[in-house]
Amino acid sequence: MFRKVHLRLSALCAGITIFILFVMSCGYLYISEKGLKDSSFTSFQNDMNTVLGNLEQQTVITHEWLTRMEDNRKYQIQIMDNDTLFLFNERNSQEQRATFDSAWQQYQEQFLIASTGSSYAASHVEFPFSITGKNYYVCAAVSERKSGKLQVLILMPLTQLERQIHIQRILFFSLNTLASFALFFFSWHFTKLLLRPLSENQKKQVQFVASASHELRTPLAVILSCASAIKNADPGEREHFLESIQSEGRRMSRLIEDMLLLTSADNHAWTIQKEPTEMDTLFLETFEAFEPVAAEKSVRLSVELPDSTIPLCLCDRERIRQILAILLHNAVSYTSEDGWIQLSLLFDRKNFRLSVADNGIGIPDSEKKHIFERFYRSDQAHSKKGHFGLGLCIAAEIVKAHRGQIFVQDTPGGGSTFIVELPG
Ligand code: ADP
Repeated sequence: MFRKVHLRLSALCAGITIFILFVMSCGYLYISEKGLKDSSFTSFQNDMNTVLGNLEQQTVITHEWLTRMEDNRKYQIQIMDNDTLFLFNERNSQEQRATFDSAWQQYQEQFLIASTGSSYAASHVEFPFSITGKNYYVCAAVSERKSGKLQVLILMPLTQLERQIHIQRILFFSLNTLASFALFFFSWHFTKLLLRPLSENQKKQVQFVASASHELRTPLAVILSCASAIKNADPGEREHFLESIQSEGRRMSRLIEDMLLLTSADNHAWTIQKEPTEMDTLFLETFEAFEPVAAEKSVRLSVELPDSTIPLCLCDRERIRQILAILLHNAVSYTSEDGWIQLSLLFDRKNFRLSVADNGIGIPDSEKKHIFERFYRSDQAHSKKGHFGLGLCIAAEIVKAHRGQIFVQDTPGGGSTFIVELPG
């Protein structure tokens, strides 16, 4: 599913940016081509001013002069003296003559009336002209003098300009294609980065549901088998089966409660009700509640509080009590008989430091980074009933909601010490 979304999102992202790029560069190309054509036309007009000004001063128009003016065939000049073609133009091919005739015809249709005058310089007009797919700039001038009428037609083929425009377009399309590939590549990676947290989250959700179903299956199987056994059991056994059903039911209900809690934390639907809390009182209450539990397992439980008065801690009292319960519950479970557990509270001017240390089985370094993951349990923990591997994640979520931190260290001499730091 994510692959499809990834592809679509990349295509959309790249499509929009490529479209914008394309429109912008087309605009730029149009302006640049227009500028090129305008400046080329202006330069043609300037050149024609010079050529015609020069012509004006010639008393005799020689072939050498005309060849020089053609500037290496950059221009093609045709001169008619009283409607007779100059000898210079006799060498023109049929095609060239047809081109001149056609250009002259356009000139006559469009400009002749307006431009006729006594001097070339005053009467010349320049205009663009096309014939059989070839484009030219044309300069036409007519001078009517006493000696007769002289018609001058100068053509400039636009091949050079067109080649320049053509190269510019090829460059533009190549750069645009390159940019499009780069944009698609960028969009592909960008959307991949964007979707990564979502896909990881989805993986986690799937894992969570799978683990939850797995955990629920065991008590449910026990309940079902007890329920079917109860039918044929004698009254003494029935009591035992009913107790099993009850305890497995309680286990299931606790597991579901834990899962709901984590789900609401994921949905940010979890509310923390902070209130000024006397941390040392909370510690003493928790200590008293857990003393019988520890004593039942012959584990020594002690509490260490600061000697001096400490400020009130702004926190959710019940949630902090829940963290301590999770840590103490674990400590009792993973500490063997005759072991010890120490509950300590410290305040270092900035943070409250809550710790639960035991001299139990300890946690290998390789497992330390996993114990806060959902449904993670060490191999030894798998055999323990009531341990689903959710306690520490719940503790971590509560700590996170308080903007604090939780971590584990080895207890000197063996065992584990869980430390919770809460901002003061
Ligand atoms: P569980 O309900 O299985 O205890 P937790 O999330 O509370 O789940 O703990 C995860 C794992 O961390 C446990 O399975 C256990 O391996 C390890 N662990 C937690 N507390 C202790 C402890 N005090 N001593 C040793 N291992 C511990």
